Amino acid sequence: VTGGGSTVRASDAVGIGVDIGGTKVLGVAVDSTGSVKAEAREPTPQIAPMGEGAEDVADAVAAVVTDVRLALGADAERLPVGVGAPGMVDRHGVLRYAPNLQAATGADLPALLEPRLAPARVIVENDANCALYAEHTVGAGRHCDDLLLVTLGTGIGGGVLSGGRIVLGGFGFAAEVGHMMINPSGPPCPCGHRGCWERYASGAGLGMLAREAAEAGRLPNAVALAGGDPEAVRGEHVTQAARSGDEAAAAVFDELGWWVAAGLANLTAVLDPARIVLGGGLVGAQDLLLVPTRRAYQELVEGSTRRPHVDIVPAALGEHAGAVGAALVAAAGGLPA
Ligand SMILES: [Zn+2]
Repeated sequence: VTGGGSTVRASDAVGIGVDIGGTKVLGVAVDSTGSVKAEAREPTPQIAPMGEGAEDVADAVAAVVTDVRLALGADAERLPVGVGAPGMVDRHGVLRYAPNLQAATGADLPALLEPRLAPARVIVENDANCALYAEHTVGAGRHCDDLLLVTLGTGIGGGVLSGGRIVLGGFGFAAEVGHMMINPSGPPCPCGHRGCWERYASGAGLGMLAREAAEAGRLPNAVALAGGDPEAVRGEHVTQAARSGDEAAAAVFDELGWWVAAGLANLTAVLDPARIVLGGGLVGAQDLLLVPTRRAYQELVEGSTRRPHVDIVPAALGEHAGAVGAALVAAAGGLPA
């Protein structure tokens, strides 16, 4: 737990936000500008079979909120709590389906969290929609009402702002962009289908592309960093090799950027965004990823020389965007829809 200043007071904070990620549950308290006043994290519980880990996930969220409240001190229990969950969150906050958090599939998160977090009001929304709200109000999407946000993490999340309104769809499931199928004979996805965009353009995709290159003998430096076994090569190894000037490792990021751009070009054909914000854990490698993504996007988007330029920018709030957005959504009383 870290306090954001020497005199952190609950009165400075307007809400607490929690982002349930594929590997960690991140909680923050923010002030009205989105500035983080306190922060806590827990590993995401994953071991239960489908639908049987809802209580464990709720307990992890409650533990993170408790730590954030302790850092804030008196009165923190009155702050509203927003929770961003990965996957198909319906309009009542029920997590209908979560390919990357199968244990919590079907969880009625508001019903599980309200008793644990009483007396606070609890709002549950899709994690990427929370990130979109944060980036639009205080981040890289300010002053842009036609915005596409894509989070590249364990999987891929998406959020769409069109004409200044967040697109929720008929049931609340809009912008599940990670499960657009882009290769019918591609690798299997945890969602049960094949060749989803997030198999290629996520943290998991980087690992897969790196292992393919390593097994073909193209990544000796990354293999050395992984202890000599090509099958042990992970995203962090190819990232480290690329940063130290290894051209073969940089070529893996060119490939990753092509896959990111392929999905962004498809989404552009549907949505015509004026700006694209990339968030999620992979944005930590933005120095390696952004240039090849922008280059490939120009090649792949329809009518690229005959349309206004679309900026592709990193999330200003980095990997905190989802948690900060969840806190701001809670403070606002819900997503504006
Ligand atoms: Zn899928």
